[in-house]
Amino acid sequence: MAKSVAERVRDYRERKSKGIKPIFRNETVAQRVRRYRRVHYDELEENRKLFKIEVLTHYGGGTCACVECGENRNACLTIDHIEGSGRKHRKAIKAEGHGFYMWLKKNGFPGEFRTLCMNCQWVKRYKNREYNHLNTVASVASVASVAKQGVLLLALLFVA
Ligand SMILES: [Zn+2]
Repeated sequence: MAKSVAERVRDYRERKSKGIKPIFRNETVAQRVRRYRRVHYDELEENRKLFKIEVLTHYGGGTCACVECGENRNACLTIDHIEGSGRKHRKAIKAEGHGFYMWLKKNGFPGEFRTLCMNCQWVKRYKNREYNHLNTVASVASVASVAKQGVLLLALLFVA
């Protein structure tokens, strides 16, 4: 149980009379934050999990599950940028993981997101060609032109 103010004052005077300095007086704020996080790790981890569930539930339309397939194991669930370019967006707001979930809540849960499981994310990425080497018009065109040159070369070889 927490000590009353009178008890704390008494303890303080007693420590002072014995010349005992407060334990953490010389800490910087960063050191104090680190110590707090170390001591309260389990509690903070639990809060992070509950917060993730809150955000995923919001974007899952009321249930903490993938909107495509219904997968509901928390470890598989992610927030999907419906229009793509999630990596660029996260880089622009400088937030990843828990920071990104906090950004969503702080910004009043913007509408362009939804809860997807990682499998559905991969399927979407494949369907929309959201992978690095072929996702720009320029790179698609250059691959096409290389292929065309190859065909021409083969045709020349057959003619010769
Ligand atoms: Zn899914």
